[in-house]
Amino acid sequence: MLYSKSLKKELELIKKLGLQMKNKIFYFGLISILTVVGCSESEKDQALEKTAASGSTTIGQINDQRILAAESEPGNWLSHGRTYEENRFSPLTQINKENVSQLSLAWYKDMGTNRAQESTPIVVDGIMFLTSSWSKVFAIDAVSGETVWSFDPEVPGEVARKSCCDVVNRGVAVYDGKVYFGSLDGRLFALNAENGEKVWEVNTIEDSDRFYTITGAPRVAKGKVFIGNGGAEFGVRGYVTAYDTETGEQVWRFYTVPGDPSLGFEDPIMEVAAGTWKGSNWWEFGGGGTVWNSIVYDADFNNLYLGVGNGSPWTREIRSPGGGDNLFLSSIVAVDVDTGVYKWHYQTTPGDNWDFTAVQDMALADMNIDGVDRKVLLQAPKNGFFYVIDRQDGKLLRANPFATVTWASHVDLETGRPVENPDMDYSEEAKWVLPGPLGAHNWQAMSVDAKSGMVYLPAQDNPLIYSLADEYKKTGIYKRNPGRANLGLEFGRITQLFLDNIDDWPTPKGYLKAFNPLTGEESWSIEIPHYWNGGVVATEGGLVFQGDALGMFTAYDKDSGEQLWQFNTYTSMLAPPITYMIDGIQYVSILTGTGGGDLFSGEPLDPVQKPASLNYNNSGRLLVFKLNGTEEYPQPNLRIRDIPEQLLTNVSNSDMKKGEILYHDFCAGCHGLVARSGGVIPDLRLVAHTDDTFELIVLDGILSSNGMSSFSDVVTKEETKLIHNYVRGRAEQDRLVALGEIASGEERLTWQDLDD
Ligand code: CA
Repeated sequence: MLYSKSLKKELELIKKLGLQMKNKIFYFGLISILTVVGCSESEKDQALEKTAASGSTTIGQINDQRILAAESEPGNWLSHGRTYEENRFSPLTQINKENVSQLSLAWYKDMGTNRAQESTPIVVDGIMFLTSSWSKVFAIDAVSGETVWSFDPEVPGEVARKSCCDVVNRGVAVYDGKVYFGSLDGRLFALNAENGEKVWEVNTIEDSDRFYTITGAPRVAKGKVFIGNGGAEFGVRGYVTAYDTETGEQVWRFYTVPGDPSLGFEDPIMEVAAGTWKGSNWWEFGGGGTVWNSIVYDADFNNLYLGVGNGSPWTREIRSPGGGDNLFLSSIVAVDVDTGVYKWHYQTTPGDNWDFTAVQDMALADMNIDGVDRKVLLQAPKNGFFYVIDRQDGKLLRANPFATVTWASHVDLETGRPVENPDMDYSEEAKWVLPGPLGAHNWQAMSVDAKSGMVYLPAQDNPLIYSLADEYKKTGIYKRNPGRANLGLEFGRITQLFLDNIDDWPTPKGYLKAFNPLTGEESWSIEIPHYWNGGVVATEGGLVFQGDALGMFTAYDKDSGEQLWQFNTYTSMLAPPITYMIDGIQYVSILTGTGGGDLFSGEPLDPVQKPASLNYNNSGRLLVFKLNGTEEYPQPNLRIRDIPEQLLTNVSNSDMKKGEILYHDFCAGCHGLVARSGGVIPDLRLVAHTDDTFELIVLDGILSSNGMSSFSDVVTKEETKLIHNYVRGRAEQDRLVALGEIASGEERLTWQDLDD
């Protein structure tokens, strides 16, 4: 393909601005439909692919017994949550309250990307195994930082559009000399732990026409590897699959929501679940209920717990007209680990109406509750209540709020059901509701101190103004569009409501809390200047570590919340820290680089404090600290954020309004509200594209290998022009603010209230 001179120039400019290409950056927004070449392709997809690589190795020798006895080898981090209980609490004490002030950098490794980092590393026998963006896998010497091997599953760039929340991956599982991970395009891999060679690969996606992804870390137990998918926003049907760790053969699959009843039910429980869905065609929307994060093995009961996600669409009136709980959305489901047969469930949010997933990390513990020793499961899902559930039968024991909750007044412990707040019903008029879809707690890891019963929890008060889709309100009909998210409330419209009601906006707040799930009391709570912060690890050394949006990696006193140590990484963080010990030296590690599901990271208003991603490069780096480390941290790269003058002539206000809606429906999820990027995905105000170039990118997909694939399936040439003009209009407004020609706060964030 020949590029015009002006295009070449523009691409050079993009590079100059630090918006790196492929694995490194330039990206975008929602998905293009991958062209499936004939039916032979999908047949091939179903097939299990094996290579000659042998599974025999001397490293990565983790098995059930070893994970079950993980407390006897505190120096390693053997499974996703360190132990099968997934408490993420380390017994290590070498780094403690007294000496943490001497903690400093031992080494760091550049991950070669500016995209979000979410991985929890596995550390075993001196080697650290972790994933990075685009589902790349690394084995690293955990003492020196040298790369032992790496593996790239070569995820097609176009797949980025199939993912709601950046090209992220949350990690690997290691078992019997193999490393297991899922790729964004839905494949599950087994690699030889010693050399990274592929042993087998299987496609987990059964319907390639729908936008399934994998971002979660697989879990392993009893010779099986378990994985779920993402994609509820785009209308998929959730399920979890167990594969044989040695051969990759499928052992069982558990669906989380029922399919088309006329095709019969996969198992008896699906028929029960179908009784809780109403309407005439609910299965056509896919149902949702994806298990994209938490899967926990419980050796005490031979259970596997599945954390099930939100419904598709989000709004229950459209999803299941006539009501119903819609099992098993927003539920914790216990299945038999060997057969996948249903045992019990607890639904956190019956008839979910807000994107309240129950996929957040689950931890297992033994607790004495009201004088009775119980084996319990702990979860702080998006909906703001902290659940303590009996693992024997799924009975609810506690449900105390851990953040501001307005959608429900409380959870009735007798019925086990939330009592919804009728004032927050948004079926007629728009309502600010807390929490919003980012949740009072999202996937960012919590840490449970089983001895004290305290939980260290990243929490937030972050609302959304919810409103039923206009089209549905007017006509009673809501049409599924296969090329985009189908939420039942459209973000073009929501953004306008957001800006119209900005004076009533409850400003988002972030917290780190020491929370007692039995009493609902906080022993301390710290407000973090930005809401979208990282996961947590607490230690027997009396410390809680967390990386935050401002780029600060901080150690707090576990008992008081007092800040004891801080390191400025100049890079916003989401990933959970871990700690490990090799040859008598304790290390603490964390990945830097933000992104993920923060739709509103574009900062529609001047934020109180900007995340580091707006000021510095979003450098993906693995940082490893020890006492008296001597490595120098590289100087941060300041971002260039000058807005060039844009060519904008003769655009009517009505066209600006149209462009505004289209931009927020298709582009804002990645490029930011009101065309202000949160810093990870390119800020469209910073490059003055010609119309031709803009079209080549949006319609012809010339940057698809970087993740910005064609949107020609969902927007026309005329609409592309409207979007472009809207971006130019916003850029020009913000440029004039920067020049002081318009006062900040006086710029035009919406054209909705203007007449031609
Ligand atoms: Ca969701």
